[in-house]
Amino acid sequence: MSAALWEEHLPFMKAAIEEAQKAEAIREVPIGAVVVLGDEIIGRGHNVRETTRDPLAHAELIAIKQASEHLNAWRLLNCRLYVTLEPCPMCAGAIVQARISQVVFGTPDPKAGCAGTLMNLLQEDRFNHRVDVIGGVMQQECSAMLTQFFRKLRGKE
Ligand SMILES: [Zn+2]
Repeated sequence: MSAALWEEHLPFMKAAIEEAQKAEAIREVPIGAVVVLGDEIIGRGHNVRETTRDPLAHAELIAIKQASEHLNAWRLLNCRLYVTLEPCPMCAGAIVQARISQVVFGTPDPKAGCAGTLMNLLQEDRFNHRVDVIGGVMQQECSAMLTQFFRKLRGKE
């Protein structure tokens, strides 16, 4: 990808990082996501799994839900999703269901990543929808947030 195209992703990944920081502020694992249509953010979400005691409360699902409400449609055609951590199987499934065009993620997830690390649910030929995937945008920032969070958590124990 050219430097210019890469640059276009940065403001939105920064917005996803801001969401992740909101999670961190309430002692949730810092993961954030935004859904973008054109150059407008139409959905935001951060992980609130502990706060809500809801296994579905991942950043991506919250951002997707908000974007669907914004568009009043379940199809998020031509939308891009930016997320600080590679999507898990549940979120990758939701991304396919929502017909999102492109996913841009920060850092790969060796334990649950389903955008190419463990498997690639976003680009499975047998599904009726495939998603463009770009990984590694602001990877260091995204990965450092998680590392620091878990380091602090262990420090307190
Ligand atoms: Zn997820």
